[in-house]
Amino acid sequence: MRKILVSILVLLTALTMFMILKVAFYQPQQEMAIANKAGNAIKTQTTITNYVNIATNQNTAKKVVNQTKNQISNTNHLENKVAKETVPVDNLPVYKISEKNISIPILIYHAFQTPQPKGDSSNLFSTQERFEENISTLLNDGYTFITLEELYQYKKGEIGLPQKVVAITMDDGWLGNFTEAFPILQKYHVPATIFVVQDLVGTPGYFSWEQAKQMYDSGLVKLHCHGKSHIDYSTVSKAKLVADYNETHSKIEEVVGEPVQKIMAYPSGKCTENTKKWLKEAGFEVQVLTKYGTVNKSNQLDLTALGRIRAEQATGKELLRSMKNHNTVRLQE
Ligand SMILES: [Zn+2]
Repeated sequence: MRKILVSILVLLTALTMFMILKVAFYQPQQEMAIANKAGNAIKTQTTITNYVNIATNQNTAKKVVNQTKNQISNTNHLENKVAKETVPVDNLPVYKISEKNISIPILIYHAFQTPQPKGDSSNLFSTQERFEENISTLLNDGYTFITLEELYQYKKGEIGLPQKVVAITMDDGWLGNFTEAFPILQKYHVPATIFVVQDLVGTPGYFSWEQAKQMYDSGLVKLHCHGKSHIDYSTVSKAKLVADYNETHSKIEEVVGEPVQKIMAYPSGKCTENTKKWLKEAGFEVQVLTKYGTVNKSNQLDLTALGRIRAEQATGKELLRSMKNHNTVRLQE
């Protein structure tokens, strides 16, 4: 019995020692395994975080690329739109005055108002819609719009012009030139010449000098003289004629802040051989009339007697017919 008890005691002691040893030797290994697992997990998480960062960066980059693509596409779209709406001037054949007998129609407009006012017995008013129709019809027919300054350079042999050219002029300085016609000039990138009457600028129904400057600064609108006041200059003295036109010309130069070529239009087209001579001597080499139905030819381009075509009431088709046949558009003087 005693032996049995001793054996059991020895066995228990051995078992206890074994457990102690097991704990002593195996626990650190388990902890190391856990620590390794934790370390691996941290590594994995870091890798995932890196991937997430890369993915986020890639998404941001993709967004930027897409935005840029959209911007490029918008720019292309706008460029195509502009290309469709304007004539590729660079591609047109160009002729010097000595080379080709070019007809140079000069269109004359006055006021613009939408809707068209009633009782316009002098047919002075056009509308924005009609003006746009005129411009787009002429552009589609292959016309290039020029300024009277370019006409002067052409006459002097300094520049060439395409076969089909046309100039837009507007007389008196009506407010509608600024509010209705100017946006169309900008839309189609077409130049025009406005003849201002100095005493009318800024009065009811007429644009201001600030508005004139705004149009001039667009690079599309040239400002020239239509007299200090809207009087019959064929009956005044040489001194009064020259002084009035010089004063308006100086005022225009002061407003735009740079030298302007001397180009003038007679109120109601009233002129004499004397007025032409006197103004030419004063530097106004380009003088336009309101003589209707005349298409200026390059081989007989008398710059002191440029005829014009009344365009206010005409459709684009009617203008094309008038320009082709060298006669008036419906209206009579
Ligand atoms: Zn006038």
